[in-house]
Amino acid sequence: MIIKPKVRGFVCVTAHPTGCTAHIQQQIDHVKAKGPIKNGPKRVLVIGASTGYGLASRITAAFGSGAATLGIFFERPSEEGRPATPGWYNSIAFTRAAQAAGLYAGNINGDAFSDDIKQQAIATIARDMGGPIDLVVYSLASPRRTHPKTGAVHKSVLKPLGAPYTNKTVDPDKGIVSEVTIEPANEAEAADTVAVMGGEDWEMWIQALADARLLAPGATAVAYSYIGPVHTWPIYKDGTIGRAKVDLERAARAIDAKLKAHGNGRAFISVNKALVTQASSAIPVVPLYISILYKVMKAAGTHEGCIEQMQRLFATQLYNGSTLKFDSEGRVRVDDWEMRPEIQNPVSEIWPKVTTENLAALTDIAGYRTEFLKLFGFGLPGVNYDAEVEPHQEF
Ligand code: NAD
Repeated sequence: MIIKPKVRGFVCVTAHPTGCTAHIQQQIDHVKAKGPIKNGPKRVLVIGASTGYGLASRITAAFGSGAATLGIFFERPSEEGRPATPGWYNSIAFTRAAQAAGLYAGNINGDAFSDDIKQQAIATIARDMGGPIDLVVYSLASPRRTHPKTGAVHKSVLKPLGAPYTNKTVDPDKGIVSEVTIEPANEAEAADTVAVMGGEDWEMWIQALADARLLAPGATAVAYSYIGPVHTWPIYKDGTIGRAKVDLERAARAIDAKLKAHGNGRAFISVNKALVTQASSAIPVVPLYISILYKVMKAAGTHEGCIEQMQRLFATQLYNGSTLKFDSEGRVRVDDWEMRPEIQNPVSEIWPKVTTENLAALTDIAGYRTEFLKLFGFGLPGVNYDAEVEPHQEF
């Protein structure tokens, strides 16, 4: 079939297998070009491994350090005549490339919040990976969680806390800038968001691995967070998702204490840059911020994507003889380039001026759209999008 993008709101309901493969190859090429990461991880579990930051972490571990990886993700597989979600194609492409390079790559497609998937992961590590895990990357972004003990279904919301929040936003597909007002979450919604995006499930994963004696002495655990500029604080840092990230930081401290006692391991939060991913495109106001940010960072020559961010995290903080550099709250910051005054000051100057009419001139909305379509395998150089392609792909 010939597969074209079909954008519906903040998702694209189609994905291109050849394009996703090309996107994976671009990321592998970046990591290889940067050279080997010394003293890197050898056996890595990535929870949320099929897109965005988790996928970039997996690619960096495998192609930077020669790591065996087990990826956990929740994707819709392809069917006869129906494309999969992009993370399915990404994971197939990654697996083929890793195997061609002589690296183990295991995959589990299912609900990471469930006891069943944790047990499947443990059985796979014990059976196939030849030793305990030395790096656990926790990179889930999910709209809901069925709690494994209570059976309750928690749904996360992206809302402010306390008061309504009004700001500019953009519909990237239509190119329309408008004002949006988001009503504050109630306490139940805030608690549900913490249940989904907070740290409890990360702690459950670490406990399950520890109980199965599958954590190497000195193991590292990392999860990802975001802070960003004042423009987005009411909807992000000070909103429901921010409250969940506070809980993720609590979990980091608890896991760190546990891992410290196990061969001087460590757990921490890495605060990453705002980037176009399936998760971030769903947050009101954030796509407009990202469009302005890309314009300013590209002009400054400091723009990075997921793979550049994760390669830098691994090469300059986690491994390669380097040490982690913590901020006053004990977090690692690879959003440092984003948060520089020479980036944020121009962003703040542009922000109030943006309208539908000048969107293309004042922001990098074109770059936003290009990156968004790339997430689904569209717009990759060297791919013939007019050619027939088989949508049904298996591992
Ligand atoms: P993403 O949507 O690209 O990736 C989410 C991953 O989670 C996918 O692999 C998906 O399959 C998996 N997943 C979702 N629900 C699952 C479930 N129930 N079971 C198993 N797997 C499941 O998201 P992303 O933007 O890469 O976000 C990852 C982390 O990085 C999040 O914690 C996010 O807050 C953080 N972060 C994102 C940004 C950004 O701008 N995108 C910035 C800083 C930090």
